[in-house]
Amino acid sequence: MYFRIGHGYRAGLSGVFFILVLFACVVLHELGHALMAKRFKVMTRDITLYPIGGIASLESMPTKPAQELQVTLAGPAVNVAIGVLIWIFLIITHQMPDLETISTGNLVNLPFAFNIMYANFILAVFNLIPAFPMDGGRVLRSLLAMKMDQTKATNIAAKIGQFLAIVFVFFGFFYDFWLVFIGMFLFLGAGAESKAGELKYALEGIRVKDVLMTKYSVLNTENTLQEASRHLIDTNEKSFLIMKNDNVEGILNYKDIIEGLHKGNANEKTETFMQKDFVWLNPEDLLTDKLPVIGQGKQSLFPVKSDDKLIGVLNTENIDKWILAKHNLLIHEK
Ligand code: ZN
Repeated sequence: MYFRIGHGYRAGLSGVFFILVLFACVVLHELGHALMAKRFKVMTRDITLYPIGGIASLESMPTKPAQELQVTLAGPAVNVAIGVLIWIFLIITHQMPDLETISTGNLVNLPFAFNIMYANFILAVFNLIPAFPMDGGRVLRSLLAMKMDQTKATNIAAKIGQFLAIVFVFFGFFYDFWLVFIGMFLFLGAGAESKAGELKYALEGIRVKDVLMTKYSVLNTENTLQEASRHLIDTNEKSFLIMKNDNVEGILNYKDIIEGLHKGNANEKTETFMQKDFVWLNPEDLLTDKLPVIGQGKQSLFPVKSDDKLIGVLNTENIDKWILAKHNLLIHEK
């Protein structure tokens, strides 16, 4: 958003400063989401910044549409608030440029604060485009979800978003090629969101105990990576529980086995390579609640315990197989 500032050393410096301040505004936007989410007891894992904006990864989205709406609106609201504050500042300090200067579009003649204000209003508007993955897509979805069920709301919002994306691409070819990029970004985002919606729908009401695997290999802390690799080849499994005296001590993930072998550690014990902080699942857990954790990719196998006893394991492949099986069973039942 920082064009035509001229060249030279000073202009370059203020350009860098402008981008830094703008990034800070994007962070504040994400913090807006995070703080509102915290009000509803939803924690934020991390905030990632992209050239096009940021993403606050919430551990889950509040399922009540009214709460999702508030969490989503909190981000753009921060940018509007920053913009309004700068506006007031410009008026009080008599720095507000007149309309004539603004309409020349030459940013160099405008106060730095004015450009930041302008950028914040653009950020708010841009984020409110009603298409996934923009905040506007979520706003639309939560408004629809107040009238219908979540999955239907997601699908309708995704369709509207994809339609808008096509409009963007179309006009982009005639007016501004940037719109083509934004349109493509929105189109892909809408697809991903409705796919996630469908997955949630397929798993509605399903519990960990319905899906868990009861046949799986177990290694112990004394086994070597070499032995673990033998299990990789002998079975269809990729990750293993590592036990010691009937206790699960860790999870040996596929990528750690491969990495360890690659570094020439074939004779070292699995204990060294296993993941020691891992999450347990409970048989009564709803899959839709646990999807964010299971799908996160930080742990590839989840032990399940009931009354402090290990009763099985679960991984994403196992859920995929279950969905396929269920889907095909349904076709034949019809
Ligand atoms: Zn946002």
